Amino acid sequence: MATGRINPEKFARQLTSKISGQGGKPKPESSELWLDEPVFIVYNVARPYNSQNMGRSLMIDVSGCPYRCAFCWVHDEALGVKMQGAKPEAEPPLQQLGLRTPSGPQAAEASEQASEKTAFLPRKIARLPDEVRKPMQRDGQISADELFKYVIGNVRARLEKGEVIDTIGFTGGSPTLYRGGLLRFAELLHKARQEDPRLPKMGIYTEGFHIAHDPSYLDPFVPYKDSLRWFVSVKNATPETFSQMTRIDPCHSDNHFKAMRVIMEKLGTPVIPGGLVLDTFATPELLAEQGMKNPLVALHRKLSEIHPDFPRMLSWDKLSLKVHDRAGHERKMRGAGYETTMPPRDVLGQLQEYFERQGTPILSFTPENPRIRDRAATDMMERIAADVQARGERAKSEEGKKAATR
Ligand code: SF4
Repeated sequence: MATGRINPEKFARQLTSKISGQGGKPKPESSELWLDEPVFIVYNVARPYNSQNMGRSLMIDVSGCPYRCAFCWVHDEALGVKMQGAKPEAEPPLQQLGLRTPSGPQAAEASEQASEKTAFLPRKIARLPDEVRKPMQRDGQISADELFKYVIGNVRARLEKGEVIDTIGFTGGSPTLYRGGLLRFAELLHKARQEDPRLPKMGIYTEGFHIAHDPSYLDPFVPYKDSLRWFVSVKNATPETFSQMTRIDPCHSDNHFKAMRVIMEKLGTPVIPGGLVLDTFATPELLAEQGMKNPLVALHRKLSEIHPDFPRMLSWDKLSLKVHDRAGHERKMRGAGYETTMPPRDVLGQLQEYFERQGTPILSFTPENPRIRDRAATDMMERIAADVQARGERAKSEEGKKAATR
């Protein structure tokens, strides 16, 4: 590619080819950008934690993202770099992911005990030769049904003990690669929630690539929309800063904004615009720019175009260097040109001030008072989603009328 940047379409096709071939020979070529088989490659199921957005969340990390953000540790972790040099360990039993758990009450117990020990995949992958680890492993696939059995057993056991679980989240490296898996999981969870309303919703964290590329991606999710929550990561706000951060061609820089709008239009369910990593957001020089070159201006304008109140919903993060190889991580960041933003030079202050000056102060939440338990915020998110959906329907009907008169 002339820009030297990653083409996520090509990359996603490579990933689907390799994953589809698991258990047999890889498909030589795939025209598919996502998998419709009901499977995932899971590299971790984390213990529940308190999220400022999704409340108490049990997170499932999958691999398979077609981006390569400079700060991201998912690929290193999922592909087993973490384990290189570590003493080879005996293969952890597959029951750690619920693959061989007994049915009935023991299943929940076994699943719960296994919750902190499910990162068997990196160990497996670390032992594989380089050529199969790059860019994606061919191992560690799990069916959506098996994963659901494990996760729901874990969640039920926790609920029985009085623990609150608000969300079962799919994150890590782009879960949208696994459309078939997400869909089957959503179907199973939706059904289970009708029988047991205590069960949490399913949170899907995405950078927006698949949804922006083809909005019809979402169509089969419509029957399960009430059991879904969406979180779309803003991968920086201008084509240049997007590309610097993700290593993706800048022509994809609106994917996250487009995905937010499409989710609300198609499903009418709220979307949290988040994941903005302040440390990578903008250099002081860019923040001093006028107009759309300034990422603050671009970010506010793009969110406002989706809905005038949408900028209030923005959620941000600071870079976490709590990774296995901090020095290596910093080197990667510097290699991508981030010296001037590490640590952040009051990007947050400027962000908050700018949004406030535009009449849309950003709402803030804490793990103790998460967004999804805040009634006012929930009402506002639902109203925004309903407005965006209604506007989308009006636009469609206008288009239909115009086409009929042509
Ligand atoms: S989009 Fe997310 S998972 Fe993918 S490279 Fe970026 S931070 Fe990592």
